Parts: sequence; C-alpha cells; structure tokens
Amino acid sequence: MRIDILTLFPEMFTPLSESIIQRAREAGAITVCVHDIREYSLDKHKKCDDYPFGGGAGMLMTPQPIASAITAVDPNHEALRIYLSPKGKVLSQPIVREYAKKERLLLLCGHYEGVDQRVIDLFIDEELSVGDYVLTGGELPAMIVTDAVARYVEGVLNVASLQNESHTENRLEYPQYTRPQEFMGLSVPEVLVSGDHKKVEQWRREESLILTRKRRPDLLTEEERQESYTTLPKPKVKRRKRGTSQSNQESTLNAVQPQSEDK
Ligand code: SAM
Repeated sequence: MRIDILTLFPEMFTPLSESIIQRAREAGAITVCVHDIREYSLDKHKKCDDYPFGGGAGMLMTPQPIASAITAVDPNHEALRIYLSPKGKVLSQPIVREYAKKERLLLLCGHYEGVDQRVIDLFIDEELSVGDYVLTGGELPAMIVTDAVARYVEGVLNVASLQNESHTENRLEYPQYTRPQEFMGLSVPEVLVSGDHKKVEQWRREESLILTRKRRPDLLTEEERQESYTTLPKPKVKRRKRGTSQSNQESTLNAVQPQSEDK
C-alpha cells in the first residue's frame, strides 16, 4: 500500500519513522510519502494562505498549491483522496479496514482555518474526521489514519495481534496481564495461570463482554446486552468488613452491583 500525505508541515511526520510503522516501511509493506504543498505554490514567495472572502477570523489555504500538488502526486486519480476535516465522517475500525484494502490513499492536511472549498469539490473523494473536536491541523489526524490503516496491511503485524482486540468484533478487549504474577499486592487472575486454555478463552470472552457492557453499551445490540445479564456470572458482592463505616460499605457494594455497572 502507498500513502501520500500532503501538508504544509512535512517535518511534523517524524513519528512515522519510528517503531512498527518504520519497520513496515523498511520491509516494503507500506510506502509513505510526505509532500510539502508549499513547493507547488506558484507565488514568488511560496505563499499558500490568504484571507477568507466575506471576512472572518484566520487564514485559509489557497487552492492553487493544493490542486497542483494533488495533480502531481496522483495524476490518474488512482488514490482514494481524503481531506482530514472535523466536518467529515468520523473514523472507526470498519472505515480503517476499508481503507486498508485500497492500493493507494492520499491524505490532505488542512491548517489554519482549513482549505478553499473548491479544492474539496474538485479533487477530494471524502472528508474524514478523527473525532468531534478541532485540532490546529490535519497532520496528527493523517498520522492516526496512517498508523491505524498500516496495522491492517499484510505483513505489518502478525494476524493474531489483530484478533480479539478492541473494536474488532464490537467489543472492548479483556484485561491483560504480564509478569510479575504479583505486583503491589495485586495478583493475576487465577484462571490465566491455570493452563486451562478453554477456561482462559471463556474468561476472556466474559470479561470482554462485561467491560463493553459497562463502558460502551452502544457497541452492543440490545439483545446482546440483555443476554449478557442472563448468561454472565453475577458480580460477587463483597462482605462488609468489621469496623467498616456504612458509607464505605455502600460504596463497596455499589462498585459491584450490576445496576451501577452501566453508569
Ligand atoms: N474552520 C474549520 C472548521 O470549523 O471546521 C477547522 C479548521 S482546523 C483549525 C484546521 C485543520 O485541521 C482542518 O483543515 C483539518 O485538516 C484539521 N483538523 C482539525 N480538526 C480535525 C479533526 N477532528 N479531524 C480531522 N482533521 C481535523
């Protein structure tokens, strides 16, 4: 897969030269090319922004350098052209998986107050947001997209790493533990060191469902949610310790009651 990133700030992309993404680039699993939009400006001072017509705060990126950059980088429109924008559809794991099937992506990073609308109308296939908040530029969103998509490109991760993780099957991942078995008074759940793979699998499925039900019930269908209450073991109610005050006792009980789980 090839990802072209168009930006006014190419030096912001050093994180893509680290860790797993860098190894994937070196192995040839993905190619990431960062292009400086300024180099395509026909202005003698390489200016790439101007005041918005109609007034208003801030500057807009002008259309000519962006149009020239897109045309030079993707002359035959082979890439899916994405403009990172808070006005776009919101990124999710299914979208990531769709993008990972493409041969090429082109990511346009806006800055300042954004880009001239005509660039979007003429050159962009879709607008994509990384969440309902506004950042100073599209550079961090472009890195998020690149990172998330690269994980699904063949040869970047081993397939097992992509299974069972959060958002793969509308679930959050179960809690994970590593060595030491005992840390600051907390032990790894017994079942994980039992050597019984069936039980481990069952525990993980249940924990995953309990966590999803508690934190992200919106990921479950109503049927799955109801079913989970009947099929999963009821949370254990802790006994009151001698000398524990009433309010302490209540908060302990609240912490394990199924009703409080959804709060
Ligand atoms: N004036 C724009 C608006 O209200 O929709 C916001 C512009 S923002 C300050 C500058 C650039 O950051 C945008 O052009 C876009 O490329 C990028 N950006 C900001 N927030 C984003 C988000 N949530 N998702 C994707 N890109 C974002």
